[in-house]
Amino acid sequence: MRDPNRVRAQAAAFRLLNEIGMPHPKLIEIEDLAMHRNVLVVEEAMKSSEGRLIKKGSNGLVRIKSGIRQEGRKRFTISHELGHWEMHKESTQFICSRRDMLDYAHSPMEVEANTFAAELLMPSTYFRPRCKVYEPSLAVISDLANEFRTTLTATAIRFATETRHPLVVVFSEEGVVRWSYSDPKKDLPYVRTGMAIPRYSSAGLINEEGEVNQMEEFDQADWFPQLSNSDRFGILEQSKGMGAYPFILSLLWLTGY
Ligand SMILES: [Zn+2]
Repeated sequence: MRDPNRVRAQAAAFRLLNEIGMPHPKLIEIEDLAMHRNVLVVEEAMKSSEGRLIKKGSNGLVRIKSGIRQEGRKRFTISHELGHWEMHKESTQFICSRRDMLDYAHSPMEVEANTFAAELLMPSTYFRPRCKVYEPSLAVISDLANEFRTTLTATAIRFATETRHPLVVVFSEEGVVRWSYSDPKKDLPYVRTGMAIPRYSSAGLINEEGEVNQMEEFDQADWFPQLSNSDRFGILEQSKGMGAYPFILSLLWLTGY
């Protein structure tokens, strides 16, 4: 399997934004942008997939799952499919799951479609200067998500990539880590999929409103039991329940890493 080409994906999004004069992404209706590229977007009841792309000659049809309430999630799904349209000429059909929308490390085409979507919705020009904060937090990320009309998850991932701070984003469900992300360029330790979240993690103590808690201190061994004790660093953690979905998003700041 080939490696994902993230630079190519970012360049494809940049080209498209440049073509329309590089407006702030909050001003862009993604359906209109897709139409500008000969792609029609429709909503349809779909069980197993989040978005699909079908190509017919120079025209494309994107179907997105109907009933997605979050605007940011819809915008990301359409942008992801538009990424396949712009970059992956070799296939005529893409069927993408919710999990594919979170793939930043495995399937090259899915990683590229996500990298494209992240750059399109949160372009470096506008997003990078906003990541220069003294202290990263979910509150900062939440404000950016509102400004860029994106999901908290996609924004956290983009923030972890663009900031100089060493951050790991963790997605857990019922006390078990389902997925985690850190910027591949920063060479950070990973949080193991399937591991139980630390006993006193705020991800296990979220209240029903899913409120953002304060940053709390943890030891390296709590989240990274696979590491030896010799390279110790501190961890500040903050978690948030994901609204109607049974997931918790945690931000780990590896202080002194
Ligand atoms: Zn896809």
